Amino acid sequence: MSVVGIDFGNLQSKIAVARNRGIDVICNEVSNRATPSLVSFGNKTRYLGEAAKTQEISNFKNTVASLKRLAGRSYHDKEIQEIEKHYINADLVDEKGQVAVKVQYLNEERVFTSTQLIAMYFTKLKDITFAELKIPVSDVVISVPGWFSDIQRRSILDAAEIAGLNCLRLFNDTTAAALGYGITKTDLPEDKDKPRNVVFVDIGHSCYGVTIVSFVKGQLTVKSTAYDRHLGGRNFDQLLVDHFAEVFKEKYKIDIKSNQKALFRLRTGVEKLKKVLSANTQAPLNVESIMNDVDVSAIISRQEFEELSQHLIDRIEAPLAQALQDSGLALEDIHSVEVVGGSTRIPAVKEKISKFFGQELKYTLNQDEAVARGCALQCAVLSPVFKVREFSVQDITSYPIKITWEKIPEIPDEESELLVYPKSNAIPSTKILTFYRKQPFDIEAYYAESDKTPTHISPWISKFSIKQVEPTENGDLSIIKVKSRLNVHGILSVENAHVVEEVIKEEKEEVSESQQMDTDAKPDEASKPAVKKVKKLVKKGDLPVVSVHGGLDKTAIIHCKELEAQMIASDKLVADTETQKNALEEYIYDIRSKIESIYSEFVNPADKEGFTNLLNENENWLYDEGEDSTKSVYMEKLDQLKKYGVPIYDRYREAEELPKAEKSLRDSI
Ligand code: ATP
Ligand code: MG
Repeated sequence: MSVVGIDFGNLQSKIAVARNRGIDVICNEVSNRATPSLVSFGNKTRYLGEAAKTQEISNFKNTVASLKRLAGRSYHDKEIQEIEKHYINADLVDEKGQVAVKVQYLNEERVFTSTQLIAMYFTKLKDITFAELKIPVSDVVISVPGWFSDIQRRSILDAAEIAGLNCLRLFNDTTAAALGYGITKTDLPEDKDKPRNVVFVDIGHSCYGVTIVSFVKGQLTVKSTAYDRHLGGRNFDQLLVDHFAEVFKEKYKIDIKSNQKALFRLRTGVEKLKKVLSANTQAPLNVESIMNDVDVSAIISRQEFEELSQHLIDRIEAPLAQALQDSGLALEDIHSVEVVGGSTRIPAVKEKISKFFGQELKYTLNQDEAVARGCALQCAVLSPVFKVREFSVQDITSYPIKITWEKIPEIPDEESELLVYPKSNAIPSTKILTFYRKQPFDIEAYYAESDKTPTHISPWISKFSIKQVEPTENGDLSIIKVKSRLNVHGILSVENAHVVEEVIKEEKEEVSESQQMDTDAKPDEASKPAVKKVKKLVKKGDLPVVSVHGGLDKTAIIHCKELEAQMIASDKLVADTETQKNALEEYIYDIRSKIESIYSEFVNPADKEGFTNLLNENENWLYDEGEDSTKSVYMEKLDQLKKYGVPIYDRYREAEELPKAEKSLRDSI
């Protein structure tokens, strides 16, 4: 069984696997350690990951980026309309309440929801992992930002299920980094009262998170988390795009923003430039033929870049201050500050964080791979197949959750809601609620305290209907226990509901030693225990619970799985056809050159012309009507050529190889 961690990034994802030697980050088919988080659609096939990257400019309308930001969102969501739309070139549409894309795929217009798109991408990550491990991939731990809400988390879990992955935990990304830190440190304090408090800061492509964690030997406890959900590398890229678009308007009289492809080229250019500026005090920007055959060039200094991005740099401080305040710790309690994520390489960002804490930043973790490694470690801890050092993780929820219900006339002074999981409640955690009811009833979960939940997220989480509730035998209200759980993924669920009954039981009272000593009673009377009546709650029976939530139901998941399987099969056929076509082409070139050289004396002169003609015919066919043929036709053609080719090769081998073999046999005797 596989033990895999996936850092699902907005720009790129990283995969780590646990092996006996330890945790390794694996490479994809083009030997990159990070795979672009992109899905693209063509007329013959889908392109996933690296393949989609090559489609980004030429097929931009059918290439979808920012997959992570689309998870669990609706089309009308303000964040989709006002922010994400600018980063996505494909047409966004509404599909049964979910945001979806409308693309051209296999020469048809098709609509895919965000969950389906993520599932497609996960299918690719699964393939990459399989290619490396060569064993079926199932158990995984996937990273999500700590601020992901219930519906966003459900979308990722659904996508994993559609892709055939068994997600053991959705792991908050900065907690994953913290686990990687904790498990490798051998000098963590033993004393639970004197933990080591470490700050983890992750600024990636689209968001920024801070987590303060207390470590003692074998355990980490998340004290607080804070976020800026809209601050990441892409914001810095955007302001450079805006800046250079203005510069080029003046300098070259071209309007980059009027041309999608030009805008794309500029985006790619400024991202490179931004990275150069992290290590140099100035950097050039050169883009050939950006539009209308114009080559553009410019130069910018780090100082200018910092001036341009001052408003972004200013936003670094608030989450740091918030996290520190919520942790209840003082600056001097902070042992160290660890940074991860690509955008923490920007010098002004580093300086701001370091200044806030009044200490040098630490780079103990691999900035790009820490989250994936942490996820793989968590998968190893949770998976039965792997033995790792026990390390317990106590995470917390970002948002307070309340549960509401309808009051009943029998209990007029009953409250109608309860804050069940306050902000920073431990994950996972179980809470049992008691209701007095005669009839089936519903409870609903909401995010509470709107000032503690981000704007634009719907406060509604889920509804649970408790069925088959009946009065007691005397017609009274039954006592119902509802077991709610903030599960390991950070998702609210109701695991079970049951009726309990109050019964009066007779219980023998234990006679304590002191009572015995105090009493003047005769020994045989004193040893006779008193009998008292106690009320006890006894479980009577389970009640069915029907839940409605933001994720997909079982039928929808099965449907999506079938669709995904069809697309996988269709992609595979296209890939196999391509392989067969290449095999035919290669064979033609190879044998044609060989019959003129090393095979020449083994070709039957009567056949030579016919064979060469056949090879040429096939070559021409390949570039003409055979350009787009089927796998079986390519295979047939290859077989036909081999009828000529194989006997030639056999004669050659006999003549060349056998004497060699005989010689080596002689030598060895
Ligand atoms: P997210 O965590 O937001 O989902 P991600 O995990 O895909 O995104 P990372 O891989 O951590 O993001 O970081 C990618 C970002 O870091 C990009 O915006 C990239 O331009 C930026 N980046 C990478 N290296 C550097 C550098 N040397 N200087 C400045 N920025 C950099
Ligand atoms: Mg990231």
